[in-house]
Formats: sequence, C-alpha cells, structure tokens
Amino acid sequence: MSIDFGTDIYEEPIVAKTFLQEDAQEGSLRPKTLREYIGQEKAKGNLAVFIEAAKRRGESLDHVLLHGPPGLGKTTLAGIIAQEMGVNIRITSGPAIEKAGDLAALLTNLTENDILFVDEIHRLNRAVEEILYPAMEDYAIDIIIGKGPSANSIRLDLPHFTLIGATTRSGQLSAPLRDRFGVTLRLELYTAEELCRIVTRSASILGVDIEPDGALEIARRSRGTPRIANRMLRRVRDFAEVRANGVITRAVAHEALRALEIDHLGLDPIDRRMLHAVIENYGGGPVGLETLAATIGEEAVTLEDVYEPYLMQLGFLTRTPRGRCVTRKAYEHLGLSIPAGMSENGEQLRF
Ligand code: ADP
Repeated sequence: MSIDFGTDIYEEPIVAKTFLQEDAQEGSLRPKTLREYIGQEKAKGNLAVFIEAAKRRGESLDHVLLHGPPGLGKTTLAGIIAQEMGVNIRITSGPAIEKAGDLAALLTNLTENDILFVDEIHRLNRAVEEILYPAMEDYAIDIIIGKGPSANSIRLDLPHFTLIGATTRSGQLSAPLRDRFGVTLRLELYTAEELCRIVTRSASILGVDIEPDGALEIARRSRGTPRIANRMLRRVRDFAEVRANGVITRAVAHEALRALEIDHLGLDPIDRRMLHAVIENYGGGPVGLETLAATIGEEAVTLEDVYEPYLMQLGFLTRTPRGRCVTRKAYEHLGLSIPAGMSENGEQLRF
C-alpha cells in the first residue's frame, strides 16, 4: 500500500492560514484556563493582573487588543479571559460584520460585562468602525431613525462590555480604534520547548502515544506556532498508525515530516519556493512583496502574515526599504553557494 502524505490525503499545506477540515478538533485542544495556556508568559502575567483587578472592582475588563501571527492562540486567549472573568463571550470577525446595523444588533444583545471578540478586527469597514468608537468609550451608540430632513439621532445606552480585538496586522488598524484599547498584548512565536509541552498535552487529550523525542521533533518543526504543531501531530499520528505500531517516536516523526516535505527547521515547499524565487529570479533581492507573490503564485497577504514572520525569525529573510532580501544563512540552508559581495542581511555590497 502506498500513502502519499504530501497530496493524496491532505490537500492543504500544513502552514495554511485558513481553518482546515482537520482543525475541527481544535476546540477540544484549546486550553480553558490561564494556567493551562502554555507560554506567552509576559502577556499572561499582565492579563492575570488586569483580570484580578477588574474582578475585585466588580467591573468589566478594559478593552483588549491581541496581535500576532495566525495560530498563536489569540482566540484561545479570548475564551480564557471570558472563563476567568466568569462572563459570556460572543465571537465574530471583521469581515463578517458588513453593515453598521449588524454591529448595533450584536452590541445591543450583550449583557453587563460580556465579551465581544472580533477576530481580524483590521478588516472592519469604516462605517462599522465608527459605531465602535462611542460604544467602546461611552458604552453607547447613536442610531439614526428616519431619512432626509426628518431624520433623528437617538442615543442608546449599552451594557458595560469588553471588546477583545484580534489582528495579525496591528499596523493596519486606524489610530482612533487602536487608541481605544486599554490593553494591548503582543503574542510572540513559541519556543521549541513550549511547543513540545503543547504537543505532549494535545497528544494526551487525543490519546496518542508519543515519546518525548517524538514530541520535540514535531515541536522543532512547527515554526513557533501551536496550530501548526497540532496539525503536525495529527498527520504524524496517521503515519504512525499506518506505518509504525502507532507510537510516535523521533524516527516516526522524522519520516512522516519528510514525507510531508517539511525540513528539519519546519520549512515547507512554499517557504523554499519563496527563497528560491528571490535567489534565482532577483539575485537574492531586494524584491517587492507583490512581485515576489506574483512570481510564486501566492497571495501577498499570505506571504506576509504566514510565511515571512518565521523566515525572518530564522534570519533567512530581511525586509529592507527596497524590498525583501535573502540572507547568507538561507543560502547555506538551501545548500547554495553564497555570491561574492553579499552582506549579512542579504544586500549586495557595491564597491
Ligand atoms: P489564533 O486565534 O491566534 O489564530 P487560536 O487561538 O485559534 O489561534 O489557536 C490555535 C490552536 O492552537 C488552538 O486550538 C489551541 O489548541 C492551540 N493553542 C494556541 N495557543 C496555545 C497555548 N498557549 N497552549 C496550548 N495550546 C495552544
């Protein structure tokens, strides 16, 4: 029997930003309390203080903005905040709120201290965003009744709620919206050690037999991202069940990830295509993001949100004012010879 783990079973790349069919089990893997939430010590420490203070005063928590690349645990953290505060959470997203009326309906249905979680908040349209300003600041919205000269504006009071916004790009948030968040927390890519704990925890929830070395092997290749670690765990589990005796050892994890074309640093075929394109078509850079995206047939936002953060963390890619450059380290990783006159950050030195 032959199994092609690269294409047959899984059509989507493991790094995919969008929610995959296989992520359906994500809910069961989500930590429910701050204590269970692994890593992000700084954000957790700050939150614990704010939550405790709000609870003591019997008030709603200040509005919170969570930012960082996809799959790092923003939605999970919002759920935990609700749980720790003992309040309800309503979940929606920027693109789902099309009209000002949609947001008004959401807001007026909240009860005191509830949390409204808006994912991808940078994608809210202007008209909707303007409703949010007085809602966040004064817990009120202005509704226009009627049309033309007889139109009347009435102010509707809202319960004291907490808005939690999540974004992969805080730079795209308008200044008035950003300023209305009392707490801003930036989530960082996870270390291999933290991801190892996440993989071990998920394996025990899913009832998967995994050796510590197997967990570490998956953790090291998960590009700092829990969602990717969990996806890898599920795919490696399938491999272990079919090819081995069901136990994820280091060798099994290695074999499975090799079959998925994920290298020892966690780079997938798109990462490699991206680096090769900069090197082969643009002499190592600089090249603009849009041009690069068009060259490899991916969307610029996907490259920027999903692929670049990890390549930059590895020191394989730099952003210069003139565009993206591939570094010496990336040439070395790909086994290519480094061109003469290349600086550390990938720019060609001119003599
Ligand atoms: P985001 O909203 O940032 O895209 P999610 O909150 O949906 O990310 O997290 C993706 C998955 O990763 C969750 O289902 C959860 O199982 C896992 N996860 C995220 N952060 C953690 C963490 N700190 N500890 C354990 N698991 C986590």
